[in-house]
Amino acid sequence: MNREKEIVKTSVVGICGNVLLVVAKAIIGLLAGAVSIILDAVNNLTDALSSVITIIGTKLANKKPNKKHPYGFGRIEYLTSSIIGVVIFSAGFLAVYEAIKSLIAGEVATYDIYSFIIISIAILAKIGLGIFFKYKGKSLNSDALSASGLDALLDSVLSCGTLIGAIVAYFAGISLEGYIGIAIGLFIIKSSIDVFRESISKIIGERSETELNKQLIQEISEFDGVLGVYDLIINNYGNDKNIASVHIEVNDAMTAKEIQAIERKIAGMCYEKYNTIMTVGIYAQNEDNGEAARIKKEIDEIVSEYKQVIQTHGFYCDFAQKIISIDIIIDFDTKDEDQVYAEIKSKIQQKNPGFNVNIVLDRDFAVS
Ligand SMILES: [Zn+2]
Repeated sequence: MNREKEIVKTSVVGICGNVLLVVAKAIIGLLAGAVSIILDAVNNLTDALSSVITIIGTKLANKKPNKKHPYGFGRIEYLTSSIIGVVIFSAGFLAVYEAIKSLIAGEVATYDIYSFIIISIAILAKIGLGIFFKYKGKSLNSDALSASGLDALLDSVLSCGTLIGAIVAYFAGISLEGYIGIAIGLFIIKSSIDVFRESISKIIGERSETELNKQLIQEISEFDGVLGVYDLIINNYGNDKNIASVHIEVNDAMTAKEIQAIERKIAGMCYEKYNTIMTVGIYAQNEDNGEAARIKKEIDEIVSEYKQVIQTHGFYCDFAQKIISIDIIIDFDTKDEDQVYAEIKSKIQQKNPGFNVNIVLDRDFAVS
């Protein structure tokens, strides 16, 4: 709730600041007949619009889960970030178009000393806004705010360009208008693509490489009775809302009652401390059995010949059923994944005739 209010407040500051800039620049631009300054104003208008979209997105994202959407609406924030990307892109496209038009028409702007002063103040205001947004974006963990902040800082660079153009036109009588306009446009397009790409990537779903990831593995491994922590998968449903699963290794002599106690403790900790709904899967371990330990060592040696294998875990040797189970994770960049898998399996099989070898190929979902 607090986060939502802060984001809205920050965005309102952005809207007011940008509207002021738009009015000031539009007036100077129209009076001077300077296309680059008018485009700069248009650009600031899209910034105000971005802040409006951020507010709407934050409001929608905080809607309560319902029957149809039990995971809540947190991912809407990624969607609004991508819409901001599209808005910025159209501003960039418009800027390039208008600048080329003015180049062809050969328009020459006429500035006066007041326009320099106002443009300079506008640049400082934009830098201030940019730093403010970046700071708030980081502290509130809001991609939309951070994107707006980066955008504002880029915009101040562009405004510097218009100022230089104005000064050159005023003192040297050379018009750089059109070229500066094109540069502004290309710059805007570039930053829009970055914003768009980043938010789309999150919607698709990224490998978890966050602090959360490391902390969860660390804390789960500290529970009594947990011998190993593997296969952490985190599904993110918006800012700080996760549904996850993990495998823990426990001694195979443990009873269901004992394992359940551990499972409950882990799930409780994940929910209370990290707002993460955690499902815990179990691997039995019997490496204290001498024969199992010997087989495990042999498997480790076989696997160590394959650099593509990032991790093995979940080894278990069931002597009653004659089954050897192990999970391996192969690097995503490996092209001959199937072949590596088949080779390892057949080598383990050869060393252990009479056993059924069961290898599970896990995905490299998260840093461990
Ligand atoms: Zn596994």
